[in-house]
Order: sequence, then structure tokens, then C-alpha cells
Amino acid sequence: MEMAIPQGALALMEALEAAGYQAWAVGGCVRDRLLGLEPHDWDLCTDALPEETARIFGNRQLVLAGLKHGTVAVVTAEGPVEITTFRTEGAYTDSRHPGWVAFRRNVEEDLARRDFTVNAMAYSPRRGLADPFGGRADLKNRTLRAVGEPERRFREDGLRILRGARFAARFRLTPEAETLRAMTALAPTLALQARERVYAELCQLLLWARGEDLLRFAPVVTEAIPELKPMVDFLQHNPHHVYDVYTHTARVVEGVPPRLALRWAALLHDVGKPAAFTLDEGGVGHFRGHAQMGAELAGEILRTLRAPTALREEVQTLVACHGLTRDLGRLGEERPIRRVLRRLGEPMVRALLALDRADDGGKGTPSEPEPFDAFEARLEAILSAAPCLSLRDLAVNGRTLMAAGIPQGPALGQILNRLLEEVGDGLLENEASLLLARAKALAAQRPGLSS
Ligand code: ATP
Ligand code: MG
Repeated sequence: MEMAIPQGALALMEALEAAGYQAWAVGGCVRDRLLGLEPHDWDLCTDALPEETARIFGNRQLVLAGLKHGTVAVVTAEGPVEITTFRTEGAYTDSRHPGWVAFRRNVEEDLARRDFTVNAMAYSPRRGLADPFGGRADLKNRTLRAVGEPERRFREDGLRILRGARFAARFRLTPEAETLRAMTALAPTLALQARERVYAELCQLLLWARGEDLLRFAPVVTEAIPELKPMVDFLQHNPHHVYDVYTHTARVVEGVPPRLALRWAALLHDVGKPAAFTLDEGGVGHFRGHAQMGAELAGEILRTLRAPTALREEVQTLVACHGLTRDLGRLGEERPIRRVLRRLGEPMVRALLALDRADDGGKGTPSEPEPFDAFEARLEAILSAAPCLSLRDLAVNGRTLMAAGIPQGPALGQILNRLLEEVGDGLLENEASLLLARAKALAAQRPGLSS
């Protein structure tokens, strides 16, 4: 077999070989190439010790941050290429960090420390494919299989459980029975992992996941985010819902475009449902206030996971507002849509519409696109008429109002906002002289304001 390797990495491999060492491309890049995908980076491994690698490339720009793990990065025209000395690692004491790292002389030992068979292959143009664990066959059969004894490998490093779910989702792999059993059994160790790392893995998983991935790995996902546990098997007692809350959620995640905030919002949109549940005399379930409760819970979850503030706030807004585009679409009025546009801005309103459509599509009963279509048609009509959505769009500003004699201060801001509301609601034309007159009238209503 032959595999095209980019020039920069290939030249490094040749230099190592010329110096009497082995050089292999390893891990994700080999897997990606076997799948016919373009790898995003090329990692190399070698029997040269890190100091030897650094010496061979002494006249090149090097990054030595990973030196104690055996990694030297050489900067090439295609970006930095990491060269790591064959190593084994052992005796994890905390399921997070290997207790020791030892350098080795053959590639098989290096491959044995890797997580999954599909990630445990190396390739060299001179030496061919090193595949001691059958990664190529597993890739072909779309099987996710831990290298070695699954339970032991997940006990060593709990994060591998989430990595496994992510690789399964991304490459449509089915976990082999023992691997899945161990992932499920050891999922509670995810509580020990650094929250930032769990968050990063969950983001990857969410971006790649289809509904079936989230269902198959429900024990993994719900151990990573324990607040989701009450959703599993939670029946809705409602004729509009066929599925339990978690199953419905999995379908909604698949139904929104793979954008991080939207995927998180889909995962968390109904997280408030179990706590908000009430059953009426007719035996029908209701979830009053679940959006607001869910937004708070989503905030706590994302704070715990150390998600960036901007993402958390966007997700909280989407969760709090979910369902709004259906309600406004049914209402059929333009003014409330303008208000939402002013309050949330166009990108958020579009994201909300995508979430609400997916929510509707994930109920398991025939979907009802009409309110969303109506909402969208109105939205486009409003936007195409160059609407006045923020203070920037207004024909007057603080300076023009002050020039007209309205004093600086908090009241000035209130007046501007009021003008924006009235223009936005179509009560007032966005024309400077009209706005000035209206501003003076508003200022006159406030004693002590006009000069
Ligand atoms: P991606 O395309 O997402 O980067 P990748 O396979 O390159 O996928 P990396 O996280 O970049 O994943 O890791 C590179 C390689 O290092 C993996 O292919 C795997 O062989 C090994 N590896 C990474 N993390 C672990 C881990 N926690 N346990 C065991 N091996 C790991
Ligand atoms: Mg990688």
C-alpha cells in the first residue's frame, strides 16, 4: 500500500532515516488517509531519542514544549510537525495522568499505548503499514475497538471513553461489545476528569453526533453531564410527544446544524422538563416554565464545564426562548417579531428558528412546519425592508439630541431607546426632524429634563 505524505513531513522522515533511525507517520493521519480523508496534521514517531531528533534538526525552527513527553516539533512550510519518540506509559494513579513515560525502540510498543485500534497504526513509505491490532480491518468494518483490555485502558485514562464516543460518531463506527461494555461501566470515572477536557470532548462529540450516537452512548453522556440523567426515560404523557425527553433531545441535536452553540442548546433545551413536570386531571403532562428553568440549569452546567461565557450566554438565551418562533408564527403579527429581532439580533433569531424547527421535527409525531414557515416569511419581509433594529440604525443619536437641547444623562438614553421602540413598532418614521420633535415631547414629560 502507498500513502501520499505532504512534502514537509516526508522530508523530516527522510532526514531521520538518513541518520539511521526509523520514522513513521502515526495515529490520526494514517486513519484519515485510509478513510480517504485529508488529515489536518501529520504526527511522526521515531526510535530517535528527543535529544537526537533535536540534534538532527538543529538548524531548523523547533518547538520544544513537549520535550519531557518525548515530543519535538519541527516547523515546516505546512506548519509544525510533531515527532515523538516511541514510548510506553504506565501506572496511572488518578485515571488522568500516566505515572511514568519510558522511551522504546520499536514501533509496536508505541502503538500499544494508543487508545483505539483505528488510531494505533503507523505508516512509512519504506516500511509499509504497522498495524499490530487490526486497525485497518476495524476501520473497514466500522468497528471501534480499544487496544488491549478495554476496561484496563479506560481505567488508565477515563477521557478515552469520551474520545471513543467522539470517534464512533465522527467515523460512524460501532463499538465492539467489550469496548462498549467497558465504556458504559467506567463512565462514572468521567466525574474525575478535568472539566475543561470533558467540555472539549463533549463539544467534538456534539458536533459529530447523530441521534443514534447520543442514544447508544447515553450512559457516557449522562455521566459527563449528570444533570441530564432525569431526562432518560422521562415520559411526557402528552399526545404531541412520542419519545421520552432524552430520546427526543437526541433527535433535536441531530436536527440542528452542526454549530456549537446550537448543538449545546439542542442538548439542553428540555433539561428543565423533569423538574417542571405536572400531570393534570385528564392525565396529560405539562411543563410550565421549563424553558426558563432549563436556561438556568443550562447555565449551571456550562459554568461547571468552564465553557466560554459567550457560548454559555447564547445557549441560555436559546434555551430560555425555545418555542418562541412557533408561538409568534401562529400569532401571525409582525410587531412581536420586530421586538424579538431588536432584543436578540438577527443571528440569534435565526438560530432560534433552527432550534424550534428541529424541536418540532424531533417529537415523533408528524411535524407541523406551518408556524415556522409563517415566522420565517415575516422575518424575511421585515429584514428586507432595512429595519431599524438598534440605536445605530436610528436617524438621531445622543449628540443630535443634545444639540437640540436635551441634557446629557440617563434620561437621554431612555429617550433614545423609546424612539427605537416606537420606530421599530412602526409608530414613528425613522426621520430626523420627526424624531427630534418626539424626543423633545418625551423630554418635556419628564420634569426637570428639558432645558
Ligand atoms: P484528530 O483528528 O481528532 O486530531 P487524532 O487521532 O489525531 O484525531 P489526537 O488527539 O490528535 O487524535 O491524538 C493523536 C493520537 O494519539 C491518537 O490517534 C492516538 O493514537 C493517540 N492518543 C491521543 N490521546 C490518547 C489517549 N488519551 N490515550 C491513548 N492514546 C491517545
Ligand atoms: Mg490529531
